Amino acid sequence: MTDIKRFDARMKDRNAVFKEIASVCSAKAGEPMAPHTSFRVGGPADIFAEPENTEQLSAVLAIVKREGIPFVTIGNGTNLLVRDEGYRGAVIKIAKGFSASSIKGLTVKAGAGMTLAALARRAAEASIGGFEELSGIPGTVGGAVRMNAGAYGVSVSDLLKSVTYLLDGQVITKDAAFAELSYRHSIFCEMKDAVILEAVFEGKEIRKKEDIIAACEGYNERRRSSQPLEYFSAGSTFKRPKEGYASKLIDECGLKGFKVGGAEVSEKHAGFVINKGEATAEDILAVMEKVRETVLEKKGILLEPEVVIL
Ligand SMILES: Cc1cc2nc3c(=O)[nH]c(=O)nc-3n(C[C@H](O)[C@H](O)[C@H](O)COP(=O)(O)OP(=O)(O)OC[C@H]3O[C@@H](n4cnc5c(N)ncnc54)[C@H](O)[C@@H]3O)c2cc1C
Repeated sequence: MTDIKRFDARMKDRNAVFKEIASVCSAKAGEPMAPHTSFRVGGPADIFAEPENTEQLSAVLAIVKREGIPFVTIGNGTNLLVRDEGYRGAVIKIAKGFSASSIKGLTVKAGAGMTLAALARRAAEASIGGFEELSGIPGTVGGAVRMNAGAYGVSVSDLLKSVTYLLDGQVITKDAAFAELSYRHSIFCEMKDAVILEAVFEGKEIRKKEDIIAACEGYNERRRSSQPLEYFSAGSTFKRPKEGYASKLIDECGLKGFKVGGAEVSEKHAGFVINKGEATAEDILAVMEKVRETVLEKKGILLEPEVVIL
């Protein structure tokens, strides 16, 4: 029996399970996922929990495991597309409670809930350079390690030294090599039950704080001028295929502006599918499907989604 069927069979117990989780940490039942994702779409999660520390997280995980309830961990939801039907199970958000940081030499230890912007700022305050390129990626450290996020030629893999995660009640620390980071991929894509708790990064050099901040601003300005940041999106919708940039291929197929309902291939950056305000997840998925079909037909290249579909 799958996890989902087991949970369905126990629906009558759902309130009891929810109450138990709510006694551990802040939790909501039937919480719409749209406000928790940068696409601003997605139906309700049966249970939405926001633990504040590892102890609470451990307790929530023990309950969902005991009950056979599927669960997923999220950070800022900036690489997530949640379907309109929502998520049958527990969504566990790793946020502010997990955003402590500390610095020693060039080393920055950051909680999984810290945003990359805050990480870059913290490093800059200590005159540590190396995080500037990543500073405009709107995710958390946990999501960034999981996705091996990167921009302007720098990825998490260039800076990560070690990662600490929680699995089956154990807190485990491993060297970066364990994470098997490659283009928008890490071992955590397969280790679905592991929750990243913190990461240790090593910056590249000591530089003047003002220069680091100016460099971050420069990268953010490049984003503003090239990306449709005025609309809801999850950044690049597709991974870069080995044949070239997904955005170039999509543009060459004449798909800029292609729309279904409120979802559209951005005119400004063809790599972004955007929600113009009233899109459903179904609209976004339909645009993604059309893009994949057309690029395959005209270019012979199958684009792989970068966004994680729940
Ligand atoms: C405008 C915009 C621009 C973007 N630009 C870039 C870019 O330049 N480069 C780039 O790489 N990405 C970019 N992204 C995508 C996104 O910001 C990154 O993938 C980011 O790393 C996701 O982090 P998150 O916290 O939002 O993760 P989420 O979207 O919440 O989750 C992403 C995945 O990570 C998992 N996850 C999250 N937290 C944890 C955790 N603590 N433990 C285990 N698994 C976890 C989730 O289950 C999910 O599978 C952009 C997105 C937007 C909206």
